[in-house]
Amino acid sequence: MKIVPEEFGKLVFNENAMRKALAKDVFEKLEQTIKNGESLDSSLANSVAEAMKDWAIANGATHYSHWFQPLTGITAEKHESFLTTVSSGSPILELSGKELIKGEPDASSFPSGGLRSTFEARGYTAWDPTSFAFIKGNTLCIPTAFCSYGGHALDKKTPLLRSIDALNKEALRLFKALKMNDVKHIVTNVGPEQEYFLVDKGVFEKRLDLILTGRTLFGAPSPRGQELDDHYFGVIKPRVASFMEEVDRELWKLGISAKTEHNEVAPSQHELATIYTTCNLACDQNQLVMEMMTKIADKHHFVILFHEKPFEGVNGSGKHNNWSISTDTGINLLSPGDTPFKNQIFLLFLAAVIKAVDDYQDLLRISVASASNDHRLGKNEAPPAIISIFLGDDLTGVLKAIANDDTDYESHKEMILLGSEVLPSLVKDNTDRNRTSPFAYTGNKFEFRMPGSNKGVSDANTILNTAVAESLRTFAELLEKSDDIDKTIHSIVKYTIKEHQKILFSGNGYNDAWVEEAAKRGLCNFPTTPDALVHMTDEKNIKLFEEHHVLTSEELKARQEIDYENYVKTLEIEVKTMIHIANRDIMPAINKYIGKLAKNIETVSAIDSSISSSYQKKTLKKLSENLAKIDEFTSELEAKYFEANKISDIEKQAFFIKDTLLPLMASLRKVIDESETMMPKNYWPMPTYEELLFSEQ
Ligand code: ADP
Ligand code: MG
Repeated sequence: MKIVPEEFGKLVFNENAMRKALAKDVFEKLEQTIKNGESLDSSLANSVAEAMKDWAIANGATHYSHWFQPLTGITAEKHESFLTTVSSGSPILELSGKELIKGEPDASSFPSGGLRSTFEARGYTAWDPTSFAFIKGNTLCIPTAFCSYGGHALDKKTPLLRSIDALNKEALRLFKALKMNDVKHIVTNVGPEQEYFLVDKGVFEKRLDLILTGRTLFGAPSPRGQELDDHYFGVIKPRVASFMEEVDRELWKLGISAKTEHNEVAPSQHELATIYTTCNLACDQNQLVMEMMTKIADKHHFVILFHEKPFEGVNGSGKHNNWSISTDTGINLLSPGDTPFKNQIFLLFLAAVIKAVDDYQDLLRISVASASNDHRLGKNEAPPAIISIFLGDDLTGVLKAIANDDTDYESHKEMILLGSEVLPSLVKDNTDRNRTSPFAYTGNKFEFRMPGSNKGVSDANTILNTAVAESLRTFAELLEKSDDIDKTIHSIVKYTIKEHQKILFSGNGYNDAWVEEAAKRGLCNFPTTPDALVHMTDEKNIKLFEEHHVLTSEELKARQEIDYENYVKTLEIEVKTMIHIANRDIMPAINKYIGKLAKNIETVSAIDSSISSSYQKKTLKKLSENLAKIDEFTSELEAKYFEANKISDIEKQAFFIKDTLLPLMASLRKVIDESETMMPKNYWPMPTYEELLFSEQ
């Protein structure tokens, strides 16, 4: 791909565009808001709106839209034209400060978890000046927060912004206690890695389960899957390469740069990592990346699957969330430097993260919980549903030395010698060897590997920020009272390691023995979404969110309700789709083939009764038995579905579905998949796994 530097960020109203478009004093004030989180003087809104509109029109926009992330998990927008009136035959195109700052979409169709009464249909969107406006098609999209008439957060962005504020506040308090008064602001950086599958559109359209649920509800394993490991990092096929190239080009225009693109483990699976940026922007950008990829895939006659587990028995997709925290003075607080043992600030922040992850394991697990991610976590391909931290040998050594009150610890870099004079010797990176860890330290950041590919990363980062803010608050309190800072830092770090030892784990997280070991250590293990969601409103969690002004108890309860609802609805759709396909496609297909077999047996014996029809008879018998079972399981699933439907308590309903419907779905699938392997291809009513997985030629 030819990268044209002038094209970068062409469609985003970023700092460069603002500097050009705004008067100097307006730009400087806006920059203070963006960089330091200072509140914006609303009198500036008119000038910003005017400049933004002119810039957008010059770049082809005719409409504008407040772009927001309601609790459905995807983005929403409502387009308005810039056209206000026509004067002497000429259109007057306007965007006022008021329109920039506030929108009033009808909120009644968005989930509110009971926060919005029916008579208060209106919701409000409020401009988020810390995320850049951008142009998509002919529309200027203005990132906004979304709240109810009563001021309750109804979106993913509001709590995220509040958590960023909370983290900043507590970090500054800590720096003040450390007498590091030059730090005025801290920045959280996030770089998500997005995994996905590509399926040919023609093949996709023949799979009703993929169309309606995003995953295959049936499908016998392909004779060839990922066992040869030949797809991982393999040569990218031309059609896929041309899709990736267009994605790069379009993201580039939006100021988003794709850092790596490669094939993933499974056939047709790929990854796109964008270069990290500030937390809020990264969360918005990830939504935009998913949206752009979906559109561009369609142009290349592909359908993109973001589901965490579109194919059973094949590696699923995640979204690793790389997270770090730095100061406005340019220090990455998670960077150990050459002598981590002596790097007190690093050790304090490391301790803060360890404490946060241990104290709020449950919330971190909840932040990635969904019906679809349940298929992936703990399935020997992704981290288990148990949270633990991997630190690597060097940091583990440092922490041990601190725990032992040693006076020094020498970090050493191991070299990898390749045995040939011409090849360079490489420094061994001992922080990134454990791929099975859900929360791994990777040199100057932490990588949270549990988030699913289908969901945005706002929830995960909201919890990380808030939990770390709470650790920093505790540390700051101790340091404020201290008359020997060095000694207090040492004892904070030492105490944290001792107290939170149980969360540190370097072994194989995919191993069953770890599940037992984790239980002995008293770590949380919530294998499914309902198991996790129950704990969302535990007293300690309500307290955390309320104390840091991230979510009120009401808002948290509403979110819990919505998450339960999403779980229930997702599985209900899957159950209905399964019943529909079994009744309308699969049973008739098997029946038709049985009829054909019966006819053949008759024909053969009519020709010569001594000729064996054993194959036909055996197959007929087995398929008839299977057909009876499919019929039985389908009816049972339907009956239980109606039973589930009658349960009015959403928590009970979620558990009933998990405990009763999921096992029935698995039984039905098993017998259908077995039947598939016995049927000729032209009798089977949908494309097979091999067709789906190798369709991207
Ligand atoms: P992996 O080895 O996990 O596949 P990648 O190179 O694919 O790693 O992705 C690493 C991601 O981490 C990228 O999105 C990158 O921008 C991001 N990243 C790098 N440094 C930081 C940092 N200091 N803070 C946050 N994210 C970072
Ligand atoms: Mg990664």
